[in-house]
Amino acid sequence: MSNTLTRVADHKARVAGLVGAMPVVESPVADCLGLVLAEDLVATVPLPPFDNSAMDGYAVRAADVASVPVELPVVEDIPAGRTASGPLAAGTAHRIMTGAPVPVGADAVVQVEWTDGGTAVVRVDRPVAVGQNVRRMADDVAVGTTVLRAGVPLGPAQLGLAAALGFGTLPVRRRPRVLVLSTGSELVGPGVALEPGQIYESNGVMLAAAVREAGGEAELLRFVPDDVEQFHAAIAPRLASVDLLLTSGGVSAGAYEVVKDAFTGRGVEFTKVAMQPGGPQGAGRYQGVAVATLPGNPVSAQVSFEVFIRPALRAAMGFSRVERPTAAARLSAPITSPAGRTQFRRGAYDPESGRVVTPVGGPGSHLLSALAVSDCLIEVPEDVTELAAGTEVAVRFLHGE
Ligand code: AMP
Ligand code: MG
Repeated sequence: MSNTLTRVADHKARVAGLVGAMPVVESPVADCLGLVLAEDLVATVPLPPFDNSAMDGYAVRAADVASVPVELPVVEDIPAGRTASGPLAAGTAHRIMTGAPVPVGADAVVQVEWTDGGTAVVRVDRPVAVGQNVRRMADDVAVGTTVLRAGVPLGPAQLGLAAALGFGTLPVRRRPRVLVLSTGSELVGPGVALEPGQIYESNGVMLAAAVREAGGEAELLRFVPDDVEQFHAAIAPRLASVDLLLTSGGVSAGAYEVVKDAFTGRGVEFTKVAMQPGGPQGAGRYQGVAVATLPGNPVSAQVSFEVFIRPALRAAMGFSRVERPTAAARLSAPITSPAGRTQFRRGAYDPESGRVVTPVGGPGSHLLSALAVSDCLIEVPEDVTELAAGTEVAVRFLHGE
């Protein structure tokens, strides 16, 4: 193995190139939350689709209620979802509900609060202007308007608009499918008492959640022992139907490195990246399928996911912004960092007290409880070894888009 470290940016570029753009599929609107629209969305109906009442009240001619009080016969009752049987005649009113079509001949709606609420005859107490309380057809969207551009992330408001325009499906890049597999003979699942040397498996649960949070579909194979045959047997039946195989453990410099043993010389390149945590990494293609192999220490695995895997998945989904939000912050306490490696220390950011970040826990990559109470990574550049309290640093949030 070479002693030269791979730069973070170079490994990142390798991983980014592995997972190509996901194919465009027509997906039910209700399933599109968090996906990216793949084509411009053009309205084929106007919004609103017809002139309708903005109030519960009475459709009238404004001229008929110019001098008040005035009494008008109520000749129709129009709830939402129905239309009047005929036009509004001069000197009459139609009782109308919010969202119901304003009848031909009416040019305004008097809200019920400005009347006596009569059902046979209504007394109107205040005049209205022409157009008052009427929502015009196409006021919001005209037919032919491009309402959403290709590339826009689909949130609740975008899905609501698509539904309002009558779309049942939307063209989106589908979610990348990720097979998550942990390795290690020491790993056991929940519900059993630990024998000496055993630990509860955690990376699988964590990485599958990270995949889902990124917008992907995770299939959690959970874990296999450090045995190359069992490793291959676990992935073989699932490999063809996924976009990425994501493993953890078995890639460092020791003996029994099952992932390394299974993939070395078979399309996956193993390297040591100039970062802490997360040095040992692998990436490549096995039997045509993208493979990324993360180190086993839980903090290393999760930080590696944030740095390398998440941006690659986001790019594959069509997001133009693939990185988490970042901010500049001042350190509340001094930290040290190894020379020649980018350090990603866990931190808690406080926007209220003047953008201060507090290092949480030490640099140890086994300190999972510190990660769990952090909301950002403090990024210390390769050449920096000491940072005094008060120094401005870059933080990369562990949430948000
Ligand atoms: P490895 O990269 O396989 O040498 O593992 C490094 C450290 O991470 C060891 O202490 C392992 O026990 C631990 N580890 C590896 N995989 C997992 C996992 N899936 N869940 C929890 N800890 C793990
Ligand atoms: Mg291991």
